Amino acid sequence: MTPNKGNDLKPAIAIENLCFAWRTGMAPVLKIERLQVPRGERVFIEGPSGSGKSTLLSLVAGVVVPQEGRVGVNGRQLNTMPGAARDQFRADQIGYIYQMFNLIPYLSIVENVTLPCRFSKIRRERAAGRNGDLMAEATRLLKKLGLEASSFGNRAVTDLSVGQQQRVAAARALIGTPAIIIADEPTSALDAQHREAFIRLLFQECDREKTTLVFVSHDTSLAGIFDRRVRLTAINAI
Ligand code: ADP
Ligand code: MG
Repeated sequence: MTPNKGNDLKPAIAIENLCFAWRTGMAPVLKIERLQVPRGERVFIEGPSGSGKSTLLSLVAGVVVPQEGRVGVNGRQLNTMPGAARDQFRADQIGYIYQMFNLIPYLSIVENVTLPCRFSKIRRERAAGRNGDLMAEATRLLKKLGLEASSFGNRAVTDLSVGQQQRVAAARALIGTPAIIIADEPTSALDAQHREAFIRLLFQECDREKTTLVFVSHDTSLAGIFDRRVRLTAINAI
């Protein structure tokens, strides 16, 4: 990643006086006075189902904007950015691991991994620069996460086990070194042993580039290996 002293001093995520409702006139789901995540931190956000964890991630990714308050990500204010600019910002800066992975069934495994590079020139150039070409970088990431190209061959993503799909989703989030990785309960389908191994691999990849990791789960048994644990109910004034 290009060193940028100005941005290094800024937190990766800075939320202030936020109020968010899914629809105007509806009761707000989140009211957060302050949440800061320093660059490179691995933060675990916990809260019961329905408490607003996924909503918070949508705000950090700029999928939605708050009715009140500020959402700063890598020094940019998402709440004042036009929709198209937010979409590009998200493509460039954020790797998103969805709970259900959201892999594209008609794309190959490697094409699924390289997908973010179609939408982001920055990530495409970083990924290609790292390993010669995009395919090689996708294969390297998959291997790092325990998926050998030789073993999956031309299999469709839909034929992979849940654990394998999860690794494809993680490689897709990591390709091109986005500044922030967002993971929305990505381990909920795994047993305890695979869960921890997966998170450690994610940590290793994040460590190398000082990537910020925001990991959301209702499963508090995972919290201990993170730098910090945030209870959503403790910071949400709803
Ligand atoms: P969690 O991820 O902690 O389970 P969510 O953020 O998904 O919680 O949901 C918080 C609240 O927001 C719930 O009441 C849910 O019904 C509501 N909600 C979530 N997504 C939407 C949406 N796209 N439109 C309207 N309401 C939503
Ligand atoms: Mg959720």
